[in-house]
Amino acid sequence: MNSLLLKSKEMKITEVPEPKEVLLPLKGFDEEKEKLKIKEGSRVKTGEELIPGVYSTVTGTITGIDIMSFAGTDLTILRIAVSETDEIAPEITAAADYLEKDAAELLKKLNRANLGFDEELKDIKTVIISAVDTEPLAASYQQFLIENPDTVTEGLKLIKHLTAAGKVFLALPEPLLSSAANLTAGAADIFPVKPVYPNGLPEILTRDISRKYDTGKTAFLKIEKLVAAVLALRDGKPFSHKVITAAGKGKIKNLKVRIGTPLKDLLQDMQPGENEKVMIGGPMMGTACYNTDLPVTADVDMIYVQDAAEIVKNENNQCMNCGKCVEVCPAHLSVNLIGRYAEFSIFEQCRDLGIQHCIECGLCAYYCPSGRSLVQFIQLAKSELEKIEAEKIETEGEDVE
Ligand code: SF4
Ligand code: SF4
Repeated sequence: MNSLLLKSKEMKITEVPEPKEVLLPLKGFDEEKEKLKIKEGSRVKTGEELIPGVYSTVTGTITGIDIMSFAGTDLTILRIAVSETDEIAPEITAAADYLEKDAAELLKKLNRANLGFDEELKDIKTVIISAVDTEPLAASYQQFLIENPDTVTEGLKLIKHLTAAGKVFLALPEPLLSSAANLTAGAADIFPVKPVYPNGLPEILTRDISRKYDTGKTAFLKIEKLVAAVLALRDGKPFSHKVITAAGKGKIKNLKVRIGTPLKDLLQDMQPGENEKVMIGGPMMGTACYNTDLPVTADVDMIYVQDAAEIVKNENNQCMNCGKCVEVCPAHLSVNLIGRYAEFSIFEQCRDLGIQHCIECGLCAYYCPSGRSLVQFIQLAKSELEKIEAEKIETEGEDVE
């Protein structure tokens, strides 16, 4: 299963016009506490803190709060009408000499710029920066590398400065190896990766690098975040835009979009037809989305309109023990057995078979000739096992009392 072959000219990142409105999920919103600040008609600046840990990605006027559902969860969404001029919150400042400043001060500034670095870099021994896209057809990470080589080099020096990590790796697709030879300026080692799904997934990359090197505690960063960190510290730009790959209806493109832009603004020339699905994420690990008013958030790397013919039908016929799922599983699990135990609610057996090592890459279900809902069975078993564990801890606590 190949990722997109590199055709950098066609995949050039193009900036999408500003949306009229952005929608920002308010994670942790407490209506009672926050209603004074979050009220209709208030003006906000780009980078301004809206509620603790949530920052505006735009300059504009608050027009209201809505509840929207995604993947079975209700999200509190703030609507902001976008102004014509972009004003940056005064707390976010530029410093050409940022590399001379103290690491703790820089980490604080990165958090304030909507980049949340602190936790990722605490006590780590190795940092992996990835320019390997995570889904088939996705091409935004690799294009980031192609279009921002100098900023990537600067970012690698920044990572060295911010952390005590003994090793920094820049993982990139093999076809980019020759053009990236001088990119690291001695601040990182290059780790070439065959651009085949699921080699770009963080768990697989971390595993593959740790098989060759003594990595210890490892942090994983997308190349986009590395570049955004430099732009925040050097140029005083908060993290307000994302690069995503939009694919479907015979088209594929890399778009730079304001975080919070509704999906429907990006789907104008790839409207889903009857029986087609819009996926947030890619064809393998994406989640179907039935409301295109939902926004692009900071962690979305791809939107995908899936053709009706490509949709894997979950027929749930009996397992014929063909072994295909076991053969393709990158975590080397007995997926055939896990699927059957989960189907019949024998969840402890799933745990004994190592279900916790499943990274939900979807390859087993993709190749299963019986159309079994293997990923859904696995997700069900994982969530039931969590409940069993929680109940056990609660009971043990009561016994101690
Ligand atoms: S691929 Fe499907 S049919 Fe084959 S062993 Fe796995 S679950 Fe069974
Ligand atoms: S989703 Fe399937 S193939 Fe992927 S890791 Fe889990 S069990 Fe293995």
